[in-house]
Amino acid sequence: MKILVLNAGSSSQKSCLYELEGDQLPDHPPTPRWQAQIDWTHRSGMAELKVKTAAGQVLQTEISASDREQGITDLLATLWQGSTQVIDRPSDIDIIGHRVVHGGQTYRDSTWITAEVKGAIADLAALAPAHNPANLQGIEAIEAVLGTVQQVAVFDTAFHAQIPDAAAIYPGPYEWVKQGIRRYGFHGISHQYCMGRAAQLLNRPVEQLRIITCHLGNGCSLAAIRNGQCIDTTMGFTPLDGLMMGTRSGAVDPGILLHLLRQGCSVADLDYQLNKASGLQGISGVSNDMRQVMAAVAKDGAKDGAKDGAEDGAKDGAKDGEAAGEQASRAQLALDIYVHRLRSSIGAMLASLGGLDVLVFTAGVGEHSAWVRAAACEAFQFLGLQLDLVRNAENPEDQLISTPDSTVSVLVIHTEEDWAIARECWRLSAEKGSLASTDA
Ligand code: ADP
Repeated sequence: MKILVLNAGSSSQKSCLYELEGDQLPDHPPTPRWQAQIDWTHRSGMAELKVKTAAGQVLQTEISASDREQGITDLLATLWQGSTQVIDRPSDIDIIGHRVVHGGQTYRDSTWITAEVKGAIADLAALAPAHNPANLQGIEAIEAVLGTVQQVAVFDTAFHAQIPDAAAIYPGPYEWVKQGIRRYGFHGISHQYCMGRAAQLLNRPVEQLRIITCHLGNGCSLAAIRNGQCIDTTMGFTPLDGLMMGTRSGAVDPGILLHLLRQGCSVADLDYQLNKASGLQGISGVSNDMRQVMAAVAKDGAKDGAKDGAEDGAKDGAKDGEAAGEQASRAQLALDIYVHRLRSSIGAMLASLGGLDVLVFTAGVGEHSAWVRAAACEAFQFLGLQLDLVRNAENPEDQLISTPDSTVSVLVIHTEEDWAIARECWRLSAEKGSLASTDA
């Protein structure tokens, strides 16, 4: 079975093709036969298309950035044309799975895409303006190129749909509940995948585990999972709530927003400040990328630079040194806030669970920053959580980084959202097949 996965970001489009054989899913994520990505932030008026195949073919080119649908059409063509061709014709693809960010309260599981589902994704665009319209464009681009192929929507909110009301409902006026203003949570595909993978790696049933999954990428969120169900999460009505992120603030006192609005700040400006000019980027002034923020701290010859400049009588040198010093201290502050918020939010999830068996780190920062993992875990030594610092420093993939006598198993897991989406396509298709055979 050939399953194509489409994963739309606000300014990117990723896609991959899996080829599954037999009637059993493999235990481990297989390597996609073909992977492609469009980046619309690359250059004004143009987008960058990158393609690679399991056989080692690579394509990197610029395409017109006119619209997403056209971009996806160009991207799809590399499946059956040119040096990266892996299938003979579009109709070789059996199913397409889409990551859809917001499924609201209606969609608590993956679903076949129908006109009604498309309508719901469009209606929910008000709650996920940067993502749901992009998801819909992906679905429509597929329809335009492949006709009436089977398509599946896998929702980022679905895993959180069971969160109890006490954790999901905001203590605002009760009308909010009727207006659908509640905690939906996001990154659900990643949290659910990591839950299953953690149980598999530990060889324990999920029903016996209390798990906190830390998805720390550009966007960051935690999920508290008991008996295989998510019971609490840090993202909320929108992906702006909770932890400090790359450019997003995470939770802030809502009174600050009222204050800024009264000061004359426009809604658009407030949106920009909270979503694009906050987080690691906003505080450090260096970057939204954890690597660069850490590098700015490490370069803290800054103060000495200021001194040297002053001694030389070189005013510019002094200014440069002071600027570098300020940059380093802002970068350090950004790291301190990031870790403080991560620790306190893990503490909140821990309280929701009433204990902890497994702590999982995943996504860009979670998988690659040994320093962030060690700093987060340090606060939980009182529980008997013991990190194996040597293993942690190795940044292992899908392995334990806690000591054998640690009371909490700490794992680094490489998140596989695309594979999780492909598995959902396979599952729905198998269910349909068994229904069809029952009908017969
Ligand atoms: P997204 O949330 O966009 O899917 P990722 O999960 O790939 O992103 O995470 C991207 C982030 O991961 C980068 O912005 C960077 O902050 C962080 N990151 C990647 N590699 C490292 C590393 N070696 N050390 C620290 N942080 C890293």
